[in-house]
Amino acid sequence: MLHYRTIPVTAFAQNCSLVWDDKTKRAAIIDPGGDLDELLEEVQALGVTLEQIWLTHAHIDHAGATGELARRLQLPIVGPHQGDQYWIDALPEQSRMFGFPQAEAFTPTRWLEDGDTVKLGAHTLHVRHCPGHTPGHVVFHSPELQRAFVGDVLFAGSIGRTDFPGGDHGTLVRSITERLWPMGDDTVFIPGHGPESSFGRERRSNPFVGGT
Ligand SMILES: [Zn+2]
Ligand SMILES: [Zn+2]
Repeated sequence: MLHYRTIPVTAFAQNCSLVWDDKTKRAAIIDPGGDLDELLEEVQALGVTLEQIWLTHAHIDHAGATGELARRLQLPIVGPHQGDQYWIDALPEQSRMFGFPQAEAFTPTRWLEDGDTVKLGAHTLHVRHCPGHTPGHVVFHSPELQRAFVGDVLFAGSIGRTDFPGGDHGTLVRSITERLWPMGDDTVFIPGHGPESSFGRERRSNPFVGGT
């Protein structure tokens, strides 16, 4: 059985998630944006073994501690989609701009494409490419858990910002309606910031994409 725990990190309260298998204790970490010591304490407290880093996109609050974590624990970096290369290249500059600890550059071990899968032991999560907030944004969907880790694509009651370079509102709305909604109304999503919600609830009430 898969389990997950979400830990808000950085001054932006970014929802970093630990996902693990309860039998084997093998774990992946989604979006280690910062506060690495706190995250590693949580890993130790849960008694899990970190095996992989999965990234939704390369904004500093999501990817800021990736380089250091990968180097310290020799972990593979999986994702995001190659469209976020320029955001990865800009991580040192992003860390200075937003007053984060100096971020290390990195090269993903594996870029992700729409329709790819990522594996954690015997468990499979499906990857959907959801551009709009950033061009290389991906989300991770676990049909088994009925959960989707959606980064900054969709929030409870809101959607991702599209005013950064490479952002596009129409593209983001299409990502949500064409790639998230088909995961099902009962699927609960873990957004990059703020509380969880379900796709059904957002379809009914989200002022940006409700009624779609
Ligand atoms: Zn973002
Ligand atoms: Zn964010």
